[in-house]
Amino acid sequence: MKFYREDLLIKAKFKVKITLDKDYTNEKDGIELEEIGLNLEEALSIVKRFVALRLSSSREMEFWEMMGDGFGYKKFGLGHFYFAITAYFDKIHLLDQKQTCPSRMDKNGKGEHIENIDYWIMIGEDKCCSYCRSIHPDRVIELIKMYGPKIIGSSKLSGDERTFIAGKKTGYKVSVINRPDVIAYEFGGVEFYSSHFNKEQIEIYNTLMHGYKRLDLVENGN
Ligand SMILES: [Zn+2]
Repeated sequence: MKFYREDLLIKAKFKVKITLDKDYTNEKDGIELEEIGLNLEEALSIVKRFVALRLSSSREMEFWEMMGDGFGYKKFGLGHFYFAITAYFDKIHLLDQKQTCPSRMDKNGKGEHIENIDYWIMIGEDKCCSYCRSIHPDRVIELIKMYGPKIIGSSKLSGDERTFIAGKKTGYKVSVINRPDVIAYEFGGVEFYSSHFNKEQIEIYNTLMHGYKRLDLVENGN
């Protein structure tokens, strides 16, 4: 079996969640199967066993066709079932690094508007905001130093690869970071909000970027 970005899958853990349409179950949440912390081999064997047991042979074929090479990256429904098979890297909460996400404090921010209840978390190699998932400004600066200005909002990824980037926001103040090894939130930071930047970080950013995709200080910035 051929997989998309198998090199990442081999290093990743897996969450397998299969739910049943609520019309077909008495269980309220409809969860048929839920396992986390699996490796690729374990995830594959659980899924194979499940589809062989619970789907008709034509549905089983349809399942593997829909999955294609996207094992670990796809969510889809088939018949009465909904399959979410997600590859991920462990997230490490840096509990000693509390912060206030500007998006939380924004008037449209979801959740409580309280300061100092967010954290920085490590996802793969990236330090990200626990609330909005923005990459930490210092890491953004480090990435520009490593890969050059074109890493910001570049179109280096092909159309197919882009479809694997989950939930990419398009709102203002957001910039996308494109690296071939970070194809989804589950593997690291894929975007950042300039509202997380302070004045000094904005200046460093703009200098490194030579004016390309300039950032301005956001008034309610940290
Ligand atoms: Zn944030």
